[in-house]
Amino acid sequence: MFRFPVSWALRCMRYCFFSYFSKPGPPRLPRPLKERGRMAERRAFLWLKNMGIDVKRAGNRELHVRLTHNGRMEEFTLTGRADYLAENAVVEVKAGRPRTSYIPAYLAQLNLYMLMYGIDQGLLLFGDGTFLRVRRSDFVIRQSLSYFSELAGCIEDFRVPEGDYAFCASCPYRVL
Ligand code: SF4
Repeated sequence: MFRFPVSWALRCMRYCFFSYFSKPGPPRLPRPLKERGRMAERRAFLWLKNMGIDVKRAGNRELHVRLTHNGRMEEFTLTGRADYLAENAVVEVKAGRPRTSYIPAYLAQLNLYMLMYGIDQGLLLFGDGTFLRVRRSDFVIRQSLSYFSELAGCIEDFRVPEGDYAFCASCPYRVL
């Protein structure tokens, strides 16, 4: 059965396709970018604490999905871990500012985490201090699962999906 990281939701499907076939995995983030992400998580933790919101590290989760897409049964497992869990919200931290073209992918990721942890509310925190409070959306979840079903179909057929050029700037495959 296919295993996909939740963080691939609604990103460039061509990136996910290449990454699926990359061994031992997609190219790793450069060290400065990784460090930037860790710093953003630490800042977010302190910001939430100052706001009186207690959070804890979230554990890994898996979601097994079986659904019909384009007349075919697709089966896959989504894996991932949100950044933090508050008492009644999933918290996801992004190191950068909220770029418009990335927001659908961020919302898809957060909604899938809400589904996986059984929590109805989410909080997206950005590196520039802005944040989005989100209610779980069945529409976004359906769109996200449909995206992964399409990806599974592309992999089965070895059909390279269309690229989404909004994501090219930070893509390790852009030189191929
Ligand atoms: S370079 Fe752009 S189109 Fe190609 S895989 Fe990366 S994000 Fe997608």
